[in-house]
Amino acid sequence: MKIKRIVEKDLPISSPGANAVVDFAGLTTSVLAIESDLVRNGRPIVGYGFGSIGRWSVGGLLRERFLPRLTAAPAETLLDEQGLIDPFACWHIAMANEKPGGHGERAVALGTLDMALWDLRAKAEGLPLWQLLAERYRHGEADESVAVYAAGGYYRGDDTVKSLADEIRGYMDLGYTAAKIKIGAAPLATDIKRVEAAIDVLGSADALAVDANGRFDLDTALAYGRALSQYDLRWYEEPGDPLDFRLQAVLAETLSLPLATGENLFSSADARNLLRYAGMRPDRDVLQFDCGLSYGLPDYLKTLDLLTTHGWSARAVHPHGGHQMSLNLAAGLGLGGNESYPGVFQPLGGFADGIRVESGRVRLPDAPGVGLELKSELWRFLREML
Ligand code: MG
Repeated sequence: MKIKRIVEKDLPISSPGANAVVDFAGLTTSVLAIESDLVRNGRPIVGYGFGSIGRWSVGGLLRERFLPRLTAAPAETLLDEQGLIDPFACWHIAMANEKPGGHGERAVALGTLDMALWDLRAKAEGLPLWQLLAERYRHGEADESVAVYAAGGYYRGDDTVKSLADEIRGYMDLGYTAAKIKIGAAPLATDIKRVEAAIDVLGSADALAVDANGRFDLDTALAYGRALSQYDLRWYEEPGDPLDFRLQAVLAETLSLPLATGENLFSSADARNLLRYAGMRPDRDVLQFDCGLSYGLPDYLKTLDLLTTHGWSARAVHPHGGHQMSLNLAAGLGLGGNESYPGVFQPLGGFADGIRVESGRVRLPDAPGVGLELKSELWRFLREML
């Protein structure tokens, strides 16, 4: 098996609205296709990947460093003993001459490349990725369905408590039973009204999570935390800066409310620091590392190993990003669930076209690979790339 060609492009992501920190106007991500010399049904097998959602494209990094290393490597060094493309070998070659630490956007570039490599590998074996992962890492045991929640509740400028309630009602009509809304861009009293409206529609506070996107200082995070503690919310996400582990630890000591973070930690080394120093509680807190933003599966597996060392279950992991790569990881590796973006961050938000949300859970397709082709709007763009 050989890599014949790699193409990368910027994909514009359309999403209305803002969170407490970021307005998504003009957002892009990198999309990548790796064409192999293996042929199935008269067509070459191609692996596709993208750099998750929320962090802009990384085309420069891919073109200048990671793709040239891969294409310059002797073909046999990219294969395993089965003679198939080995994503781990490719990862190490792509990362040659990179210093430890300073993860940043480099981790997104590797996440993009790694998704395409696993898509290619799973297609070469004729397996959906979730099944390949279950066979490699869980003695073949995969979860039949994955719990998902609708992440929305963005600030849209002209939004009202009523429009938020309508939005949540729309998610429930789609089959979701849990949702997440943004907080922190409005005064606390307004946000509390939003929270109460969302709880009203969902019918239960433990079906609602809230997300401050890292905006608060310690005093504000505590004030919000105390106000939110009157409800039994599902979780309180990224109250403060993602790297402020002391803030996180003080909140964990002060509040009984479950806390969630990790989507802006881009390496197993950062995840280890979080587990060591941020006072996170394995009995209730939620970890949201996103493999698409954090070096892909080779480093994600290291993070999952660290969880065991630190007394956590993989079920505490609910990856950020609402994409099919994480959905495959959730089913194949036994994670707790996955984020979902119905209607936002198109064409990437949401899963394969035929997949319905039923009682807050989704099943996975049986087609080989990650499944990006099964989302027609995304597939149109990917096909045009080649
Ligand atoms: Mg978040």
